[in-house]
Order: sequence, then structure tokens, then C-alpha cells
Amino acid sequence: MKMINELCKQAYETAKSKGWHDEPRETGTLLALIHSEVSEALEADRKGDAENFLEEMADVCIRVFDLCGSRTLDLEKAIVDKMERNKGRTYKHGGKAY
Ligand SMILES: [Mg+2]
Repeated sequence: MKMINELCKQAYETAKSKGWHDEPRETGTLLALIHSEVSEALEADRKGDAENFLEEMADVCIRVFDLCGSRTLDLEKAIVDKMERNKGRTYKHGGKAY
């Protein structure tokens, strides 16, 4: 099982090798592309296409990994830290509806 930071490095290197980082990419653009994959997952779910839904969820992760890989961000530590912090939060985080 590859660790998350290795997947970030690999996603970035693959995108770079395909020309997607020939010019510096704005963070906002990369975030919009992550969002586009979330929308594709929504459409797959609305169609009841479970196989495509899972593929789009993978695309969401790959886009996140690419962004973090391109910025050399320690996503793995951030996820572990945040998941640990979430364990200590109150039920429904103090009364949020969702
Ligand atoms: Mg997609």
C-alpha cells in the first residue's frame, strides 16, 4: 500500500510528464479542477452508475494529490493530524445541522 505522499508525488509526476505543468498552474485552477471531478461524481451518482462514481472519486483524489504534489505539501501528515483532531470534537460539533 502506497502512502499518501508517495501518491501525491506520483500523481504530480504523471501530470507533469503529460504536459499539465509545463507552465505554472494557479492554485485556484487546480481547485476548480478538483471541483469538476466532484461534479462528475455527483452526475454518476444521479445516474446510479456505481462504477463511474468510484472512478470519479478516484479522480477527485488524484487531482488533490497532484495539487499537493506540485506544492510539495505534506498531505499525509495533515490528514492524520486532522483525523486525530476530529476524534476529539463534540457530537455534531456542538449542534451543527450538517
Ligand atoms: Mg473524471
